[in-house]
Amino acid sequence: MAICYSCHALLNRKNQSWEHIVPSALGGSTKSRRILCKTCNEKAGGTIDQALVAYCRNQLEKFGIQPDRINSSQDWKQQPFTIEMVMMAVHKIIANFYYWKWKPATSILHDDSIQTHFRVVLHFYTEWPLHLIYLEAREQSRWMTGYIELFGEIGFLIKFETALARKNKTALFLQDPVHKKEYLTTAEDQNQIIEFVRQQIQAIESDVR
Ligand SMILES: [Zn+2]
Repeated sequence: MAICYSCHALLNRKNQSWEHIVPSALGGSTKSRRILCKTCNEKAGGTIDQALVAYCRNQLEKFGIQPDRINSSQDWKQQPFTIEMVMMAVHKIIANFYYWKWKPATSILHDDSIQTHFRVVLHFYTEWPLHLIYLEAREQSRWMTGYIELFGEIGFLIKFETALARKNKTALFLQDPVHKKEYLTTAEDQNQIIEFVRQQIQAIESDVR
């Protein structure tokens, strides 16, 4: 049973809404209906999504991506934002991916957990502008790891405390923001990328310790 990530209303045919996993303004294309009710969806686009877009303005310019579906009453580059808003947007991306990919029986990954369970890291390793979302659940751990890389340049690591992390599971998603489509790779490439991502996560974890 899906519940709205923001207001916790039960999602049904009447109030469910399509929400991009990576915001459309950042070159996202894949959508899910398991995250936000219509009302909260309208609010999220105008606030936290715009904060993340403003935060990524250098990358958007560098890769020549014109943000669409942005409330254009003011210049999006001038949009004020706080790191908390950016992290809320990142948290929503991970939660959306989690619900979309693993379709858990209950929705427990709500935004209340953001206060205590996130870490921000800026990370640079490639010029290739791909968005990457990675989820990892470990049987022995009550933590689930979420890692996002935007444009291959900005890395975010989020740890969720969740009762659902009871199986060894990983999921990887790649988005090509320039061509606005999911970036598909072979299983072999995926394994290599996951290896690489795990090294990034370890490096970040040892940095913040
Ligand atoms: Zn809602």
